[in-house]
Amino acid sequence: MAKSDLPWENVGPEFKKNYGKVGMLLDLNRCVGCHSCSVSCKTEHEVPLGVFRMRVRYLERPKAKTLAFAPMLCMHCEDAPCQKACPSKAISRLDDGRVIVEESKCDLEEECVSACPYGAIFINEEKEVAEKCDFCFHRTEVGLEPACVATCPSGALQFGDLENETDPLNEAIKRTDAKPWKEEAGTKPRVYYAGHEKWMEAMANTGVQLDPEDADITYEQNNLQK
Ligand code: SF4
Ligand code: SF4
Ligand code: SF4
Repeated sequence: MAKSDLPWENVGPEFKKNYGKVGMLLDLNRCVGCHSCSVSCKTEHEVPLGVFRMRVRYLERPKAKTLAFAPMLCMHCEDAPCQKACPSKAISRLDDGRVIVEESKCDLEEECVSACPYGAIFINEEKEVAEKCDFCFHRTEVGLEPACVATCPSGALQFGDLENETDPLNEAIKRTDAKPWKEEAGTKPRVYYAGHEKWMEAMANTGVQLDPEDADITYEQNNLQK
């Protein structure tokens, strides 16, 4: 579909939504690991097989004989290592704080991929560009929720304006005592996680392991067997 054919391309300026600083909350107490978020993201953005803008991690909880789930996406860091590392200046920040890849400027140098502490940016071999979550710019600029938020059946994902005190996102972040993932990386993420206190910090210190087969994402390895 040509971009000009998309319905939101014809939305008048009166419907455009302005944000101060966009952000997201992921409440892991609500996540049931159904993958609706990652599947809808793939569909929305035609992401090829094997790479992800949104990915659901599985973490083993041996003593509880269950799994915990952690959806991962770009954290839209205020101090973004990917942006600093790109020699082509293909990664920029919009006024509302979201970090985007300008595809026409990307020279596939891949420095962004190794610079990101979250494993959130990847090379789309089909389009030959670096790619990552853009908080569904085409949807949110006209007031729609991101695709992942709209399809999550358990209300685990919430998008909104971190600078607007009346936005329910800020109340939810406060109520759930949500914190950024891997805060110690110092990138000032704009994505917050709730319900992560049992294991997130320890996981963060091992680096982001996206493959459930990886041994060091288990509770056993990190002595977190609750
Ligand atoms: S759609 Fe919601 S419940 Fe399902 S994996 Fe994603 S965040 Fe978790
Ligand atoms: S999470 Fe990674 S890709 Fe996203 S802004 Fe931060 S450094 Fe860049
Ligand atoms: S906000 Fe949009 S691009 Fe980002 S993970 Fe969700 S569906 Fe994918």
